[in-house]
Amino acid sequence: MASDYASAVRAGTMAAGRLHRELDTRALIETQGGSVDVFGAIHAVGLPLLLRPLKGLLGAYLSAPAPGVLVTTERPMSIQRFTAAHELGHFSMRHEPSLDDESILRRMPMSPEPGNNFEETEADAFAIAFMMPKWLVLAHSARQGWQIDHFRPQCRLSALAADRRQL
Ligand SMILES: [Zn+2]
Repeated sequence: MASDYASAVRAGTMAAGRLHRELDTRALIETQGGSVDVFGAIHAVGLPLLLRPLKGLLGAYLSAPAPGVLVTTERPMSIQRFTAAHELGHFSMRHEPSLDDESILRRMPMSPEPGNNFEETEADAFAIAFMMPKWLVLAHSARQGWQIDHFRPQCRLSALAADRRQL
């Protein structure tokens, strides 16, 4: 179990990478394109998922009598996907049950969770790394033809001009 914020982020990120490798997500996205299918991953690991209106919660992870996750339907799909990935993180890392409110969207080194177990930090790091793995960012950048120069403000105009010349 992580004993500080940085190792919690590392542990969550590594667990997300492990699950991607287990599910072979990268090969799937590289052939089909698109983004990470969080709900598909939950289904693939056999984790029961309930989508329901929840009061005061974005989601929950339950471990007894059997593992399962709940995700609210009262938020936009982007937040539902993040919440589902967070709950999948709790499951993947065999955490204690968790009732998750909006604090999962705002956790930072300056405002860590109360207590010392860092399971919420791990689950947040898992969610971020699972939905936005480095290889996915690189694959989309390659597909769009983005180069480092495109992101340098002083070079943007010349890069765009070069693009035009190629058209
Ligand atoms: Zn949580």
